[in-house]
Amino acid sequence: MKMPDSYDVLVIGAGIAGMQSSLDLADQGFSVGLVERDPSIGGAMIGLSKVFPTLDCSSCITTPKMAAVAHHPNITTLTYTEVEQVRRDGEAYRAILRRKPRYVVEEDCIGCRLCEYACPVEVPDAFEGGMGARRAAYIPFTNAIPQTAVIDPDECILCGRCVTACPTDAVVLDQQPEIVEVVAQAMVATTGWKLTPLDAKAEYHGGEIANVLSPTQMERLLAPHGPYGRVLRPSDGKAPESLAYVQCAGSRDQTLGVPYCSRVCCMYAIKQAMLLSGSLPFADITIYYMDIRAFGKGYEEFYRSAKAMGIELVKGKVARLTEHEDQGVIVRVERIDEYGQVEERKHDLVVLSLGMLPAEDLTRLAALETGEDGFAEVPRPKDAPCRTASDGLFVAGTATGPMDIVDTIIEAGAAATEASLFLRERGVTGSAGRERVAAQPAAERAPHDGVEVAT
Ligand SMILES: Cc1cc2nc3c(=O)[nH]c(=O)nc-3n(C[C@H](O)[C@H](O)[C@H](O)COP(=O)(O)OP(=O)(O)OC[C@H]3O[C@@H](n4cnc5c(N)ncnc54)[C@H](O)[C@@H]3O)c2cc1C
Ligand code: SF4
Ligand code: SF4
Repeated sequence: MKMPDSYDVLVIGAGIAGMQSSLDLADQGFSVGLVERDPSIGGAMIGLSKVFPTLDCSSCITTPKMAAVAHHPNITTLTYTEVEQVRRDGEAYRAILRRKPRYVVEEDCIGCRLCEYACPVEVPDAFEGGMGARRAAYIPFTNAIPQTAVIDPDECILCGRCVTACPTDAVVLDQQPEIVEVVAQAMVATTGWKLTPLDAKAEYHGGEIANVLSPTQMERLLAPHGPYGRVLRPSDGKAPESLAYVQCAGSRDQTLGVPYCSRVCCMYAIKQAMLLSGSLPFADITIYYMDIRAFGKGYEEFYRSAKAMGIELVKGKVARLTEHEDQGVIVRVERIDEYGQVEERKHDLVVLSLGMLPAEDLTRLAALETGEDGFAEVPRPKDAPCRTASDGLFVAGTATGPMDIVDTIIEAGAAATEASLFLRERGVTGSAGRERVAAQPAAERAPHDGVEVAT
């Protein structure tokens, strides 16, 4: 695909932060290159079920944003693309991008999924937390953007059935990676988060006990189009009658090198517990916690509603998880609220409230300083919260530290504003982009929340 090799701004990471920054900049007329390493834009939010504190459907918020990004005349999205290296080139940035082979020609694919239906290889579906199955030829999820198939080279047995099935001859099994170089006047890094590992705490046996899950797996079980269509125990398909959450299972723990609070775990555990009490009305749900941190607007009320719904909150430190012979999980807890009394309780399913780590080593990407925790540092957080020490390089969202969606969107807007001011100071006004928007028929412009597309 022919794409521009020069942008006003290069945004790295197309999660909610990257999409919001891109839209805000593109609406002002700046040309934006939005680079995403996954085959679809959307980031983590597209995989969530509902979002606290409003319990809105997550994909109902994310999908229109994704469409707005994809249709914006000033945004070029480069999916399945890794940023290999970024270096200063005079006052600009020069980035080397590696476009990974999809083994499907993007412009020729019509998203019909005939290759997927023809493919004989089934593997665990990473989008579904490994709980469902996908084929070696696949479209990542229903509302993926672009709706372009991708072939997993590690699983493909080169049988050629997808080649025959494709009506547009889009499958090219010997496609090669492409290295492209782009120049940008400014950059916004929005590379997001990853979870602390499920097996980090040996005493919890995550990854060994089948019914000890990660919180993102539970998000998929709760999602309307999740792997099983309802909440079932992965080991045997049983509807769980007793579920538990272990808080701070990857945060506030010096032994893991994660001394900080990951901020969202209390809230996502409470949210999931509330959703579970709706989908499994007869199940008992317990949250084992040391402190509940309900920091945002409406969050304390959200927490109180969960208690009023009958979710049990036990103040204690979970010492160990062991597998019961009936595939349940025994939780050994030292109760803080009962003078250190040690109790053992059995649950059908346990979720570890894992913490957040930075998804990407940002120092690898650009001359950017990170703290001991690996998240991006900004020298003047009070008056320029998104401006890094490197001129023209901005950061936003969970690349800077654990945060919820509201704060992520606020930071993304702030990064776009700071980048826009920086560009204007340099005499880059984005006028070329404004002309492109004006040239596009109004009917083709995708609307997106609260922002009018410039005409
Ligand atoms: C289980 C769970 C439930 C949650 N539920 C809620 C909730 O209900 N409400 C709420 O407010 N918050 C919730 N959160 C928090 C929410 O997920 C985050 O606030 C949000 O995802 C942050 O968005 P982001 O854009 O910063 O990061 P991400 O969504 O991680 O996006 C970053 C993007 O950058 C891409 N990327 C990374 N490195 C590169 C690279 N080198 N090159 C190209 N692309 C790259 C990634 O592939 C990804 O697409 C939850 C978190 C968890 C763990
Ligand atoms: S060639 Fe690979 S991707 Fe295509 S159908 Fe065969 S196994 Fe599936
Ligand atoms: S690669 Fe071909 S068969 Fe597969 S979705 Fe695209 S157009 Fe359809």
